[in-house]
Amino acid sequence: IKFEDLQINDDIKKAIAEMGFEEPSPIQVQSIPVILSGKDVIGQAQTGTGKTAAFSIPILEKVDQNDRSLQAVVLCPTRELAIQVSSEIKKIGKYMPGVKTLPVYGGQPIDRQIKSLRSGVQVVIGTPGRVIDHINRKTLKLDNVKMVILDEADEMLDMGFREDIEMILSKTPEDRQTTFFSATMARGILDLTKKYQNDPQHIKV
Ligand code: AMP
Repeated sequence: IKFEDLQINDDIKKAIAEMGFEEPSPIQVQSIPVILSGKDVIGQAQTGTGKTAAFSIPILEKVDQNDRSLQAVVLCPTRELAIQVSSEIKKIGKYMPGVKTLPVYGGQPIDRQIKSLRSGVQVVIGTPGRVIDHINRKTLKLDNVKMVILDEADEMLDMGFREDIEMILSKTPEDRQTTFFSATMARGILDLTKKYQNDPQHIKV
């Protein structure tokens, strides 16, 4: 399939064309329609496969620009990845000015993040520790979150973020859509899947 065949709006199509994306990559071909359909997904893919756009395109398609509440949360193991993912979402959402995206990670002054969050952000990309910090400060409210994406889930478990991830997931609505991306399918990922996903489709590239 081609990008034109996907059920995504023209603003997204225009932005990805400008980014030089001509054809969807295999992980994108397989996972974009499934994530758009609302199903939970486990995407097994390495970095470099286009996994970021595979979840970022559906996030942007599903976010309601008229609703200023937080609707999607992407958890990443490192600040570098959070910044990278945030920058890709901003590029893909270039023609959707109503969508506000913010990376939140440790090591950056929290006051600045709080100020940005107060202005209304629909998509947050964060490292687990800092996201918890904002939840505890009540500067991040997860009641309206429709989608949670765990990027490099195996990496996050290896770094000891399991408890944080579970705490964050437990604060989101139960009917949310949960997507895991991971290079490997270690035991810990399968445990999380059983606990927090609903009949997930496993996609491997
Ligand atoms: P990722 O695996 O998400 O880190 O993506 C690796 C690189 O491929 C990034 O620079 C993306 O912007 C780029 N990319 C993602 N999807 C496509 C595509 N369909 N066509 C061309 N480049 C892409």
